Amino acid sequence: DPVAAVTNDDVKRLDRQGVFHSWSTQGSLDPLVIKSGAGCKLWDFDGREYLDFSSQLVNTNIGHQHPKVIAAIKAQAETLTTIAPAHANLARGEAAARILARAPKGFAKVFFTNAGADANENAIRMARAFTQRDKVLSAYRSYHGSTGSAIAATGDFRRVPNEFARGHVHFFNPFLYRTEFWSRDEEEECARALQHLRRVIECEGPGSIAAILLESIPGTAGVLVPPRGYLQGVRKLADEFGIVLILDEVMAGFGRTGKWLALEHFDVVPDLITFAKGVNSGYVPAGGVMVAQPLSDYFDEHFFYGGLTYSGHPLAMAAIVATLDAMDEEGVVENAASIGSRLLGPGIAALAERHEVIGEVRGLGVFHAIELVSDRQRRTPLGAEQMGRLKRAMVTRGLLPFVVENRIHVVPPCIVTPAEVEQGLAIIDEALSELA
Ligand code: PLP
Repeated sequence: DPVAAVTNDDVKRLDRQGVFHSWSTQGSLDPLVIKSGAGCKLWDFDGREYLDFSSQLVNTNIGHQHPKVIAAIKAQAETLTTIAPAHANLARGEAAARILARAPKGFAKVFFTNAGADANENAIRMARAFTQRDKVLSAYRSYHGSTGSAIAATGDFRRVPNEFARGHVHFFNPFLYRTEFWSRDEEEECARALQHLRRVIECEGPGSIAAILLESIPGTAGVLVPPRGYLQGVRKLADEFGIVLILDEVMAGFGRTGKWLALEHFDVVPDLITFAKGVNSGYVPAGGVMVAQPLSDYFDEHFFYGGLTYSGHPLAMAAIVATLDAMDEEGVVENAASIGSRLLGPGIAALAERHEVIGEVRGLGVFHAIELVSDRQRRTPLGAEQMGRLKRAMVTRGLLPFVVENRIHVVPPCIVTPAEVEQGLAIIDEALSELA
């Protein structure tokens, strides 16, 4: 083993000497060192084991180091590691076919990108070309990626220092627990959120709006499962005003919610679907845009002004083909659904019974959030200091959680086993008890 003598400290030192990290102040970083992984487990150089309840950035849906995906990447590397997008490539064609087989009826083509941000970037570009309009409406409670238009479309705080793209307008999406509309139930929240969106469209000028961009289930914003009828209502508004509807399935797609795509829960069909992460669990970076027939027809006649050197990169495509096949063969999506409804959902609800600090729990499949509050009545978000302590208590016990603001997002790989769910929830339980 060539790295047998390497220690955690060596790796951390090297990192701090040369690596510039995302979304952080560089001077105060203390990154966790990870050497290797398998399934839902990760190990550091000292042999310490972690149970991954984060799926990293909610992307390793098939778990770490799936042997069939690794074999496919190796085989593709032996044949052809890279090829320009203009060529026809077998892995690329097979990946597109497998993705379209999982899309709603009427989706015709896939444009491949390197990740989720540029998927949204290109979906917006397609919508603007198709409608000959400029504005893009998206939700305040959202994250769409960190490039030009994608970060301007993002609703959360990360947009504000990065607003260099034009034409972006935001609205409030429904979220009953922290309602912006003084709603008392989901039905009222849905109706009022739709009325608010209609007013935003009218006030911005329907003739100037190219697209409405929404996560099917806003993820980083807190796993905000929309009320029944909301996405259908948005679809109706888009139709009424000739606006392209883009659903962002980057985090919620490819098994995470117990369906291939999260939009299947809501009986809604958009015009464009963006994806990345779970499509190949990030083994090789990849994302893309699924294009419905009307837009696909439009680009049969009109030039598409967009492209990327690595669009449809063969290694990424081979990883997609193998990932989707393995997920089918091994019932990975079904596992996410049954784990979610039988164990993870009820397990988290049971935690909420025991811990006063839990204000709300919500989610589907292996896509759940625990909202922590210092005051249940007032719903005051738990402070950063306590969230930090809670995170350390989980990591010390060998659990890698996905902590965002005052929430623990419970997002293990879709292959998670009942025993691992039990182990992970027991650690969260202990950490919450210690906090109290
Ligand atoms: N869209 C959603 C819903 C996401 O959650 C993310 C990443 O977390 C992105 C887009 C951006 O994807 P990427 O980081 O691959 O560019």
